Amino acid sequence: MSDCVFCRIIAGELPSSVVHEDERTIAFMDINPASHGHALVIPKTHSRDLLEVGPDDLAACTSAAQMVATRAVERLGADGVNLLNCCGVDAWQTVFHFHIHVVPRYRDDPERD
Ligand code: 5GP
Ligand code: ZN
Repeated sequence: MSDCVFCRIIAGELPSSVVHEDERTIAFMDINPASHGHALVIPKTHSRDLLEVGPDDLAACTSAAQMVATRAVERLGADGVNLLNCCGVDAWQTVFHFHIHVVPRYRDDPERD
């Protein structure tokens, strides 16, 4: 999947700021963050979206997202966290390699959307 930007990140062909890695998943900072600490959790095996990702990769990504969210609260001082998945063009998916957004939220953030 050399035309997939996230597969290229996994392969080390594109730079990224990795915050978590395990056997099945990798998490890195979003290039266009919605908040401080906005990260993306992806499976190392390519699948297009929520409908295609296998149950083991989905479970691994969910656990990794929980870890990244916990770290955002404990280390970044987030007051809450949104987990988000966009599945399909009509749900605003723009990168077609399954991913979970981990978006830390801050009570007094003026940029909050
Ligand atoms: P989607 O819109 O598919 O739910 O989310 C795709 C996300 O990937 C967006 O938030 C976008 O900023 C992020 N993104 C797109 N290209 C890159 C990239 O090359 N590097 C990183 N770190 N994030 C990317
Ligand atoms: Zn991919």
